[in-house]
Amino acid sequence: MIRSDISKVSECSVADCAYNQAEACHAGAVTIAGPSGHAGCVTFIPLTVKGGFAQSTAAVGACQHLECTYNADLECGAPAIKVGLRGATEADCLTYATA
Ligand code: SF4
Repeated sequence: MIRSDISKVSECSVADCAYNQAEACHAGAVTIAGPSGHAGCVTFIPLTVKGGFAQSTAAVGACQHLECTYNADLECGAPAIKVGLRGATEADCLTYATA
């Protein structure tokens, strides 16, 4: 995988995250982590202010879920991921998949 292949966050429905504006993530990059079977977006931060880079969309900076079908060398190989709520309050990578 080369750096230009880096996955983007194509959509995020977690509206109360500080990096979310109009269903898009504006962090420079997100980290996906958490226990096996639960690919949490650990960049999620619920604040009353908005932050990040307003003109750009987040990349997947790192993913610790080696068991995901798309993971290679602890990086995400999916063309893009979607992030949303899984349960009431947990921001998760909804593209997570296992064989
Ligand atoms: S699709 Fe898989 S490899 Fe990519 S960020 Fe989500 S959990 Fe990680």
